Amino acid sequence: MSSDSSAIAVPRRLPLLLITDNVLLPGSSMRIPVRSLKNMNMVKSRLMDRNTLRSTIIGVIPKTNGSDGIDEDVSKLHPIGTAAVVVQITGTNWPRPAYTLLVTGLCRFQVESILQETPYPIATVKQLDKLSEHDNDEIKASEELESLAENFREQATKLVDMLDTSIPVVAKLKKMLDSVPSQHLPDICSTIVKASFSEKIQVLDAVDLAERFKTALPLLMRQIEGLKLLRKARKDGKVEIVTRKETNKPLNMGGVFRNDYDDEDRDEDVDEISDLENKIKAVGMPEMALKSAMKEVKRLKKMPPHMPEHAMIRNYLELMIDLPWSRGTKDTLDIVQAKKDLDTDHYGLEKLKKRVIEYLAVRQLKNSLKGPILCFVGPPGVGKTSVGRSLANTLGREFHRIALGGACDQSDIRGHRRTYIGSMPGRIIQGLRTANTNNPVFLLDEIDKLTKGIHGDPAAALLEVLDPEQNNNFVDHYLNVPFDLSQVLFIATANNIAGIPPALLDRMEIIQIPGYTVEEKMHIAHRHLIPKQLKEHGLTEAQLQLPEDTVRCIITSYTREAGVRTLERRIAAVCRAVTVKVLENPAHKPEVAQEQEVQESKQLEQKEREVAAPAIIHPPEMPIVIDETALEDILGPVIFQSEMSQRLLQPGVAVGLAWTSMGGEIMFVEATRMVGEGKITLTGQLGDVMKESASLALNWVRANAKKLGLDHKRDLLHNTDIHIHFPAGAVGKDGPSAGITIAVVLTSLFTGVCVRSDTAMTGEITLRGLVLPVGGIKEKMLAARRAGIDRVILPARNRKDLHEIPDSIR
Ligand code: ADP
Repeated sequence: MSSDSSAIAVPRRLPLLLITDNVLLPGSSMRIPVRSLKNMNMVKSRLMDRNTLRSTIIGVIPKTNGSDGIDEDVSKLHPIGTAAVVVQITGTNWPRPAYTLLVTGLCRFQVESILQETPYPIATVKQLDKLSEHDNDEIKASEELESLAENFREQATKLVDMLDTSIPVVAKLKKMLDSVPSQHLPDICSTIVKASFSEKIQVLDAVDLAERFKTALPLLMRQIEGLKLLRKARKDGKVEIVTRKETNKPLNMGGVFRNDYDDEDRDEDVDEISDLENKIKAVGMPEMALKSAMKEVKRLKKMPPHMPEHAMIRNYLELMIDLPWSRGTKDTLDIVQAKKDLDTDHYGLEKLKKRVIEYLAVRQLKNSLKGPILCFVGPPGVGKTSVGRSLANTLGREFHRIALGGACDQSDIRGHRRTYIGSMPGRIIQGLRTANTNNPVFLLDEIDKLTKGIHGDPAAALLEVLDPEQNNNFVDHYLNVPFDLSQVLFIATANNIAGIPPALLDRMEIIQIPGYTVEEKMHIAHRHLIPKQLKEHGLTEAQLQLPEDTVRCIITSYTREAGVRTLERRIAAVCRAVTVKVLENPAHKPEVAQEQEVQESKQLEQKEREVAAPAIIHPPEMPIVIDETALEDILGPVIFQSEMSQRLLQPGVAVGLAWTSMGGEIMFVEATRMVGEGKITLTGQLGDVMKESASLALNWVRANAKKLGLDHKRDLLHNTDIHIHFPAGAVGKDGPSAGITIAVVLTSLFTGVCVRSDTAMTGEITLRGLVLPVGGIKEKMLAARRAGIDRVILPARNRKDLHEIPDSIR
């Protein structure tokens, strides 16, 4: 690790651990019992969950009185705390769940603001102490400080000399004393002498170094005096040795000396290191890794556990032990079974399933993983992740999803060098630790969302990961020894091909998933989503039924998406509502007619029919059948209504079709004209290509005014301004495919003839009036269908794309 102190900084945001009536000072270690709700939450979500990419640095903050567990008022927090590394977590379930953390204090911080209070507090903090391993210049620069430091060191030496060096912790302290930088002495000494809570708080609050020396010195002196007295008394035979007082720890140093990192801990420490050593030898690392690990063990043995580096090396070694160096699963590949599995898990997706099966077959024959990486491209919620998971199941491999969205730094993939506190391995190594086998299926999710930051291109690092020539020797910066990735099966997903870095695209085989029609969604809902959600909510079909029409209504009125993710969420919402009903009403059994139920059904019927039915027929209480009225109660008023007929009531509006990373979408293009001098305004976040096609379309209309039956004696722009708008202004749009729509809108505007409301169109236009083919035909058709449009006008040369479109739509 480097000794460059400037690189050492604690994170700006820290989760807080609140401790009662105790103070952790930098440079010392302490075992902290965790019992209160917030502290438990913090430990569970920040430290126990290996899936999260978080460091193990926390903020430890003292809290005055109020018992742990009851008083969790964040406003009672002390404004200054100590950033600490968590070295070890031990847990128990008896008599109730609790953890004990072994933490080492690093430096002071000031709480700037509390970002959240529940489930556990997180604060933005300002680091107050520099973390450095050397006497810093601050001391050397000031005479006053220098003499304070010198005096303090003298007293500390005196104190340690008075102690019995046969006790290991004292021996260690003595050895350490020479090497500890002076600025750390007040903190370390204040921890080992007997001091009250408020005295320790004073030391914590002494941010200024000179003040800290001055605050801690009296505590040190008092201890020395106490020891002197005790010695004298003992010599005179006046005092019997007081035996174990308040703690169970062995009484060293004459009963007045307390140490949080005492004898037991020391022994434990030695035990733990040899334990680590044994584990390292047992996990079957390749030679290079073993060598590196043993080197670190050696350093660890020599290092006082008070140093932050001690904790860092331990974290490193724990990772080395956890990694699946030689642990793998055996592939259970049976093509027939694989096909069956994919079919039972997913409706439709024929092209994708076929390609996945071919891929598996080739692998089985060649018995190698070389070849292109499969990349599933399509809008959210079309089953990309889910197919990946199925594939892993079929092979009997572990599945792990690596989210790449927002990765903008090499180190996201390849880790940070272990030069600063809080450095971590990259997502690949973290993923292996979680997967716990060396041949998992890794789903590189949203590979099109990688961005290039200032610290190197993550795509370049990923390229190395995916390259079969190189990836058997992948070196993560944190790990610093090669790990063999050649057995990992990589799959990628993306929303949009255009976002995939070209070098990566080159390695991948793209499989497009365009999105589903309403009919396909109905099938998916009935076969997969509803049974899945029922099960998740502990319901059965005997309790809840969703008829076809209801599902169709959910799809058309409560979702507008290419995939089925929102659909699944809406179904879950219905299940939740029904679960509540079932539980609220334990007598929800067919035989018992509930008063309230009768009332409700009466109201319902009234609402529905207006006219009284001949006799009141109670719907059976079970199963609860969700109709459209019930749907509105649960999901609220209809969210998406067809705007078609209302919007196309006047000239100058037409429906175009766009293709975005979210799938296809319909787009109303609007134009108006006003008196002016021939200006054209375009709004709606357009790209350059789109602006060009707008002026192309306009000029074509101008040139063909006569053919279009317009007044062609004067230019159309004479005394006229035109404004063309593409609504949903927040979404950036580009591409040439709106050309024809703009031409139609303008023609409609000038002729005063409305465009048919059941028709949408797409196509690029040239200056001569040719219409050129465009991409994304299937997505666009699906979108038109979703919006209730029956007719779509396409460029003739797109005829070849028609075979992709399901018959139900054509
Ligand atoms: P993506 O990764 O494409 O964003 P997911 O794989 O997360 O989408 O799919 C969202 C949900 O929809 C999952 O619960 C998945 O099982 C379900 N799903 C999507 N497509 C299908 C399908 N063709 N058949 C069955 N379930 C599907």
